[in-house]
Amino acid sequence: MRCVKCREPAVLEIRRHNAAFCAPHFLDFFTSQVERAIQEMRMFDKTDRILVAVSGGKDSLSLWDVLLRLGYQASGLYIHLGIGEYSERSKEKVLLFARKHEADLLIVDLPAEYGMNVEEMAKRSHRVPCSACGLSKRYLFNKVALDHGFDVVATAHNLDDEAAVLLGNLIHWQVEFLARQSPVLESTHPKLVKKVKPLYRLSERETAAYAVLRGIDYIVEECPNSVGARSLLYKEALNFLEAKAPGTKQSLYWGFLEQRKVIAGSILSPAGDGNKASLRECIHCGQPTTAEICAFCRMTEKAMEKMRTIRVGPAKLGSRQE
Ligand code: SF4
Ligand SMILES: [Zn+2]
Ligand SMILES: [Zn+2]
Repeated sequence: MRCVKCREPAVLEIRRHNAAFCAPHFLDFFTSQVERAIQEMRMFDKTDRILVAVSGGKDSLSLWDVLLRLGYQASGLYIHLGIGEYSERSKEKVLLFARKHEADLLIVDLPAEYGMNVEEMAKRSHRVPCSACGLSKRYLFNKVALDHGFDVVATAHNLDDEAAVLLGNLIHWQVEFLARQSPVLESTHPKLVKKVKPLYRLSERETAAYAVLRGIDYIVEECPNSVGARSLLYKEALNFLEAKAPGTKQSLYWGFLEQRKVIAGSILSPAGDGNKASLRECIHCGQPTTAEICAFCRMTEKAMEKMRTIRVGPAKLGSRQE
């Protein structure tokens, strides 16, 4: 197998593009796919301040790395969820990357700030851990970006993630979620920060290859709460199809992005404005929400209430670490 650019031995074959690349040409390919996503979807430019949500895994550290190399103003945001050893090790990887690249990093410590880790928060608010975690992360990404004057929040969802979410939304015909699924969610309220996914053109295998070739030290283990997640089942199904018919994931997701423009205004709303439901400010925290009190405040208040009945007396709140 030879590199399609220089005929040197290839390190990676990308069957959906009918191509193979040597290490330098793969890194060029990866970088150009990210740049193309940013330009074509008008995600941000060099004047914008970007907050990159980082977990310590290959996708988010690769995204942070490529944005810094491309000369974007990219700061990291790590949310410490308090999931035992997994959180400690992932935080170490993020700190290591930030130090090595002399990059700006913000850390929100959930247990210190809210008096409980994400699993306790889930239990006390009668949610499953991933639901409490997802809600907390969405809330904190927006809040931190707003508090610190960032223009956009970038998350590291790749083609595999997006195709699996799409498959799940289609299987259950989650029309509202389909309407919101886009690599760009524009701000539709002064307190709602724009969200983007610059890795949507690249597969999980490609982000892993990028991380390895760049020498990025990332956490390989998955969060213990991911075991048995429905999204992993959809990923497995898509991996099976991809092995038999290369290009399946790309065709599914990119095809959806094309089609949603065609049927915009009928079932789905146009790209990026799927969250246009009238927003107002939460009466407790001031963050944008469709209800009087936002979902995050409702969850934490319920969890705190439960804690008060156990511990007797209000929980002591720590302050955010930065
Ligand atoms: S697997 Fe669930 S709990 Fe773990 S980081 Fe992901 S969303 Fe959060
Ligand atoms: Zn080459
Ligand atoms: Zn609130």
